[in-house]
Amino acid sequence: MSTPRFGLQARFLAGSAVVLLVVVAIVGLMLVRQAAAQREALRNSGEVLSQVFDQGVRERGTALANALADTLINPLYYSDLAAIGAAVRNTARQKSVSYVLVYDPDGRLIHDGSFDVAGYGQPMNDPLAKAAVRSRKPLVQESPSILEVDVPLAIGDQPLGGLRVGMNLAPVRAQEAKSMHALEQRMRETQRRELGWALGLMLLLLGFVCVMAFYVQYTLVRPIRWLGAAAQRIERGDYLIEAQATRRGDEVGELLRTFDRMSQSIARHDRDVRQMAYTDALTGLTNRLAFREALDHRLLRAQAAGRGLALLFIDIDEFKRVNDTLGHEAGDDALLQFAQHISSAVEQIGGDDALLARFGGDEFVILISQGQSSAAEIAKQLAERLVIDLGKPLHVQQREIFLGSSIGITLFPEDAGDATALLKNGDIAMYQAKLAGKNCFRYYSLAMDHAVERRLHLEQELRGAWERNELRLVYQPIFRTRDRMLCGVEVLLRWDHPALGAIPPSMFIDVAEQSGLIQIIGPKVLRAACEQAQQWPRNALGEELFISVNVSPKQLRNGDLLQEVESSLLGSGLAAARLHLELTETAVIGDEMLAVSLLEKLHRAGVKVWLDDFGTGFSGLSHLRQVPVDGVKIDRSFVADMERDPDDLALTTAIIAMAHALGITVVAEGVEQEAQFELLSQRGCDLVQGYWLGRPLEAAGLVSLLERGAMAAVR
Ligand code: C2E
Ligand code: MG
Ligand code: MG
Repeated sequence: MSTPRFGLQARFLAGSAVVLLVVVAIVGLMLVRQAAAQREALRNSGEVLSQVFDQGVRERGTALANALADTLINPLYYSDLAAIGAAVRNTARQKSVSYVLVYDPDGRLIHDGSFDVAGYGQPMNDPLAKAAVRSRKPLVQESPSILEVDVPLAIGDQPLGGLRVGMNLAPVRAQEAKSMHALEQRMRETQRRELGWALGLMLLLLGFVCVMAFYVQYTLVRPIRWLGAAAQRIERGDYLIEAQATRRGDEVGELLRTFDRMSQSIARHDRDVRQMAYTDALTGLTNRLAFREALDHRLLRAQAAGRGLALLFIDIDEFKRVNDTLGHEAGDDALLQFAQHISSAVEQIGGDDALLARFGGDEFVILISQGQSSAAEIAKQLAERLVIDLGKPLHVQQREIFLGSSIGITLFPEDAGDATALLKNGDIAMYQAKLAGKNCFRYYSLAMDHAVERRLHLEQELRGAWERNELRLVYQPIFRTRDRMLCGVEVLLRWDHPALGAIPPSMFIDVAEQSGLIQIIGPKVLRAACEQAQQWPRNALGEELFISVNVSPKQLRNGDLLQEVESSLLGSGLAAARLHLELTETAVIGDEMLAVSLLEKLHRAGVKVWLDDFGTGFSGLSHLRQVPVDGVKIDRSFVADMERDPDDLALTTAIIAMAHALGITVVAEGVEQEAQFELLSQRGCDLVQGYWLGRPLEAAGLVSLLERGAMAAVR
């Protein structure tokens, strides 16, 4: 887990550090202030002390001077130098007295206490002496080392002179310094004590912060970090988080427990979602997503082990019809039965490692791993079995329906090396199986890739083919069985490509439908056929021929059909009764509501509608009651087998009878033999069409046929 750059712990520590710093700053400031105050107090104390000491010396000096002055008045008056000397010496001997000088009123030295008085008569070299003589009270002057007290000596008003006592200040200063020193000492001690206290408090605070940090770490940061890490693991999809057994009764404890419950619920939810995401809801099989993952995985394994894989891509043939005709419930039912058939085949043949998945709507894939026999061999057996099994009838809504399956097989490593290419190959091979007539399997080959390319190429070529006159119409005669008279034609489209030659409709109609080009080409066919038919002569009975135009489901669904029909009729002048539209069952029954309303509108316009390829779908006869069609064209597969297969004959007979009961015309297509024609006419089939009666003709060929007054029997 990557811890946040500035996490909770860091924030707490930073906050604590700031608080600590502020406290240190305040305490420091206080200490500095205190030190300054102490210094000031010390200075003031020094001054006061000095004043006190000074005062003492001054008072003592003054007292000594005054006392001496009293003693000296008489000896001075009588000029008794010996007495003066004795008194002076007496005073000079006093403690702290440096010297004693006696001077006359002019400030000249009289005595200094020495025996020879070397400086006798010398003038005092400062003005204080003279000022003292004139003054009535003692005067004091002070130098750093000496305090001099001058006292006047007089009898009455007669000045006799003055005396000076020089007090030595050095001892006083020494005393003062000593006291100051002691004071300083005390103060420093106090300061140290204060500092000690402050430091102690700070340490206490630091200790407290550390304890708090530990507490916060233990009670908040650690659980929150754990929660963060667990949340990140959940975010990465790792839901296996060990539960935090905590007894804590506080909010964090509650949060941890809630988180535990939440992560367990997420894990459960994840399992469910995975289950849902990786399995197909309808069949319970592995789904596309899970298959893709497994395929990647197995490819890696197979590659590493040098083993082969085979992929079968199965698509149910005509499954859409089940949904369209019987509804989605029936479709689901059919799919389930299909899935069961496939599952049991895979279980029996596919080997232990076989993986079956529903890949999409009606697509299934099977991945075969090489076992005792090669993957290709197993795939072949499985495909053969599946084609048989899946061709068997399914029972859906009390009906028997016949579907089939087209299977594509592709091999690893022969055909492709990665999952995407392998699946694409499977799809291409499956598509080729469809093209090959469905209900079969095909192996992928490189040539198939080219087939897909050819299809794309065909689509490009088909664009603008009409404008380049590569598309033309042919007309296949339709005869009445009653009088064997040529009464109409089916309009069929032909494509003559300049390079590829004649391309069969079975190929290009499909391309046109898939690409939507049919919506451009279809209306052009309709219009051109109407215009052509207008130019044809009448038949031998003087009747005008009808034209039967094939309409693709896409044309029906885009909603413009009615308008296109009307404009073609109007543009060509063809009578509406001469136009028949051939719709396939799928087109009509896919969306019955739309079809019914459209068919009614076409009816009102006078146009007839036939159901083409009738019998190949699932509409069944009962649907004919609901869809107002004018005719059905029995598919040529029934006609072909009619002679050999009694079921087909019975069905054809039933269709004819039922249609007649409903007043619907019956057309049989693909009549290739006389016997078929006879069978159909005996059973009352109204109209017939087929190679035995006439192949599709150019307009010119048809005109000459008409001019010959063609009848079916005449051929
Ligand atoms: P379809 O509408 O069922 O057309 C009948 C097909 O059966 C035509 O094939 C016709 O040539 C063929 N046929 C007729 N009699 C016999 C016979 O006795 N034996 C055999 N084996 N075949 C016979 P064609 O022309 O190849 O058309 C194939 C399909 O292409 C048509 O089937 C139709 O669905 C579609 N198609 C053709 N032209 C158009 C068109 O203009 N528009 C649309 N939407 N589809 C068209
Ligand atoms: Mg047709
Ligand atoms: Mg047909």
